[in-house]
Amino acid sequence: MTQATENPQSIQTRCCIVGGGPAGMMLGFLLARSGVDVVVLEKHKDFLRDFRGDTIHPSTLELLVELGLLDDFLQLPHQELNSVKITSDGQTVPIADFAHLPTHCKFIAFMPQWDFLNFIADKAKQYPSFQLRMETEAIDLIEENGTITGVKASTPTNELVIKADLVVGTDGRRSIIRDKAKLPVQDFGVPIDVLWMRILKDPAIGEQSLGYLKAGKFMVLIDRRDYFQCGFLIPKGQYKTIKQRGLSALQADILDLAPFVGDYINELDSWDKISLLTVKIDRLRQWYKPGLLCIGDAAHAMSPAGGVGVNLAIQDAVATANQLAVPLQKGPVSTDLLARIQRRRLWPVRVIQAGQIFAHRRLINASSTRPTGFPPYLLWLFRHLPVLRRLPARLVGMGPRPEHIRTGEKQMEMSR
Ligand SMILES: Cc1cc2nc3c(=O)[nH]c(=O)nc-3n(C[C@H](O)[C@H](O)[C@H](O)COP(=O)(O)OP(=O)(O)OC[C@H]3O[C@@H](n4cnc5c(N)ncnc54)[C@H](O)[C@@H]3O)c2cc1C
Repeated sequence: MTQATENPQSIQTRCCIVGGGPAGMMLGFLLARSGVDVVVLEKHKDFLRDFRGDTIHPSTLELLVELGLLDDFLQLPHQELNSVKITSDGQTVPIADFAHLPTHCKFIAFMPQWDFLNFIADKAKQYPSFQLRMETEAIDLIEENGTITGVKASTPTNELVIKADLVVGTDGRRSIIRDKAKLPVQDFGVPIDVLWMRILKDPAIGEQSLGYLKAGKFMVLIDRRDYFQCGFLIPKGQYKTIKQRGLSALQADILDLAPFVGDYINELDSWDKISLLTVKIDRLRQWYKPGLLCIGDAAHAMSPAGGVGVNLAIQDAVATANQLAVPLQKGPVSTDLLARIQRRRLWPVRVIQAGQIFAHRRLINASSTRPTGFPPYLLWLFRHLPVLRRLPARLVGMGPRPEHIRTGEKQMEMSR
């Protein structure tokens, strides 16, 4: 039981985290592990959604080592990707090799994100100061004298007020928290959207490339054992036009990029089986105000390019817990501390977003009239100079400025 005092309409806690995605669940877990009273609100009734990233990166796996959770985690069904290959105009080339990373796990673990989030939730629930409220949607902030002091939320049965010393917005790229707080946003514009769908997989198919490029088309195929999770890039705002071309034209495009899909493409027989995911890249100019902090996609929406948004969200959570776990045990935290979190995480976010913006303009721009894709000389270099594959591996696998766990029992003892 959390120490939060409760009646049916109102609860009080130290930290209210809005959004049970990777950032929110990891932050909730770390704060509770350090003894901070924390309530995480998640608007859905479970984590079972298909459109989230499925990648658990070496740096996140390293955090699980530091937390003593890796062995348990690796018991869950997952696939291990030791290197990333792309197929560009029919040529398959390895572009990232994780073998040289200074981490225990030299691979990306592919796991449905709901399994990862359930895993973190189960671990967090072992701490008495953790509370996860599913089907609880934040609808507004409570502000008193210029300071955020809580959240108003709705549940299937009632409205709930959560009073908190700190509210953390981890509610993703359509964050209501950052809107209600009127935190200014810088939008970088993205020329693509993604069609997201499942394609059944021939069990005899061996390891394939992750990315496929050809004649301005780009597709990602994530191997989920018995099916591929497919992300097919389209020019932004062109979904209607793509639909008008017809399903068979889309099927033909997919087969052109990945012929091994074969007759399984015919299972994709309805637009109902295809979701449109709008992609954006943006960043708050200021991630905080008195009583409030935003992290993860709520502070900096990431595109799927490079598959690094989940990792970055988790790194934000670790940096936040490192700064706040001790002071939050005593009460409200200063905006100086919140500013310190933004300063620490801004540089890694800037580097990765700049890389994504470059990739969208030059490599995977489905709406460009100029030729995009990997230039042949780059493919040649990656093929013949294996050392080059270490840089993308480092950027994708660890990201700039990887965080480490500095919270936990030890810190609680020190703070007593
Ligand atoms: C198509 C696509 C594919 C991607 N693929 C990858 C990938 O393979 N690997 C990768 O690393 N990244 C990927 N990304 C990026 C990645 O999904 C995000 O960067 C990452 O999920 C951000 O984590 P987060 O915890 O900040 O937010 P989110 O994962 O968006 O989580 C936010 C949570 O808040 C909840 N929520 C929202 N509003 C409220 C509310 N008002 N009240 C309560 N709860 C609320 C949501 O239900 C959700 O659970 C992809 C992005 C897109 C668009």
